[in-house]
Amino acid sequence: MTAVSELILTRTVADLRAQVVALRNAGRRIGFVPTMGALHEGHLALVAEARRRSDAVIASVFVNPTQFAAHEDLGTYPRQEARDAELLAGAGCSILFAPDAAEMYPQGFATSVQVGGPSEGLETDFRPHFFGGVAVVVAKLLNQVQADVAVFGEKDYQQLMVVRRMARDLDIPTEIVGAPTVRDDHGLALSSRNAYLSADELAVARRLNGILREAGERAKAGEPAAVVEAAAAEALIEAGFAKVDYVAIRRAEDLSAFSGAVDAPARILAAAWLGKTRLIDNLAA
Ligand code: AMP
Repeated sequence: MTAVSELILTRTVADLRAQVVALRNAGRRIGFVPTMGALHEGHLALVAEARRRSDAVIASVFVNPTQFAAHEDLGTYPRQEARDAELLAGAGCSILFAPDAAEMYPQGFATSVQVGGPSEGLETDFRPHFFGGVAVVVAKLLNQVQADVAVFGEKDYQQLMVVRRMARDLDIPTEIVGAPTVRDDHGLALSSRNAYLSADELAVARRLNGILREAGERAKAGEPAAVVEAAAAEALIEAGFAKVDYVAIRRAEDLSAFSGAVDAPARILAAAWLGKTRLIDNLAA
């Protein structure tokens, strides 16, 4: 265990548990923010939300190999732990848990967690391995940290729904809280993967949010979901996206589809490619 200013860095579950016991014995309410690092203002907003809801915040940085397919960007995913530690310390985080893969998945690891319901469709149609990897690592982290509250970004809306479902179904006692997406001045959702974008791609990426907003307005005005989805996908291609995985309007509550007009609180979600970079975003509609 080493301390970066006020921040305690732990790399093992045993050390983490000792820290958690000390906080509990001191009567502290614990907040938790899991991340894959390469932190930006979006992650720090989650830390701020966790601070508002607890007395001590634990963040994790773990680039989880099981949620990447072989052809995805596990090898090139940005890693900058020293900077992350500084940002977390500055944001008032108390403990950084940064295990390595062997600590999280020791020899013989053989358990999977499969969440149905909200994990069906959308991301799963294009990244079928993804929520299996997320569910296992989030279940492990929630059990390791045993926080009172854990904060996840609405940026990954389907993931938030899947984590909520899993925590409910498995009686994980940590309260799961969603926090709003932090965007740049042009509306682009902050993402560690934005670092992959060229200047030209960044200009196109910044159109995603506006196109989704317009689609949301059309849905609210009563146009059928399927019509709005198709028009938004076309607008993304016209804006310069190379490929659209999906644009979908779903019930905000459970991500189920609308058969006609959008007649309940909705979320419009999209995933689209710029070169080798896949961006996702979503909004209330
Ligand atoms: P990641 O490091 O990308 O796995 O994300 C860790 C957490 O930060 C997840 O709960 C994300 O939803 C959240 N997050 C990522 N980007 C943003 C953002 N721009 N605004 C708010 N939360 C975010």
